[in-house]
Amino acid sequence: MRHPLALFDLDNTLVDRQGTLAEWAAGFVARHGLDTEEQSHLVGMVAARAHPPTFDAIRARYRLPPSATELWRAYCADIAALVSCPPEVLDGLDALRSAGWRVGVATNGASDIQRAKLRSTRILQHVNGVFVSGEVDVRKPRTRHFALAAARCGATLDDGGWMVGDSVVNDIGGGRTAGLRTVWVHNGRSWPNTSGHGPDHTVPDVRAAIDLLLHTTDHERTTA
Ligand SMILES: [Mg+2]
Repeated sequence: MRHPLALFDLDNTLVDRQGTLAEWAAGFVARHGLDTEEQSHLVGMVAARAHPPTFDAIRARYRLPPSATELWRAYCADIAALVSCPPEVLDGLDALRSAGWRVGVATNGASDIQRAKLRSTRILQHVNGVFVSGEVDVRKPRTRHFALAAARCGATLDDGGWMVGDSVVNDIGGGRTAGLRTVWVHNGRSWPNTSGHGPDHTVPDVRAAIDLLLHTTDHERTTA
């Protein structure tokens, strides 16, 4: 029996990262007595790259007493407490696995924050495997990232499969180069005209992507 592969991006695909960051920033400025106008700046800094050095910059900008390590740990705990994955998405991941798919997460980011999110949302319990770029410093859109994610699911890119994500370059461009079919979660955006070959499918959210995969033919499931 063949087990087609479905890889999912995490941030702004399986979970609402932007919404979670906005909530976190509101709490951060309140706790540290900062101007509320700093919220969007904080979101921008963390959205660009959520890793310990960002908190060196945040600590310096606001002259905060805790160390950058303490701020980073608090950030990881705060985000884990705030982030969620909708029940219908978790159910959808289960439905894919019940239908014979191997389901994985392929995400860029630091291992501690991405793993904290995967645990607290319980996504870890609903997939076959996870690969976080920070574990071996192999980020999307490199093909090796997708190969490592496939391997975590007991699969190989040679058998084809699908990549679902919101990033034009990392998920759709990278997935396509890796030989995967692609589903772009548009999150209200239009496909940029300058980005060459588009995705195989475009959907409004990840649950729609899951439904699409559940309705593919056997041929479509494994042919790149
Ligand atoms: Mg994303």
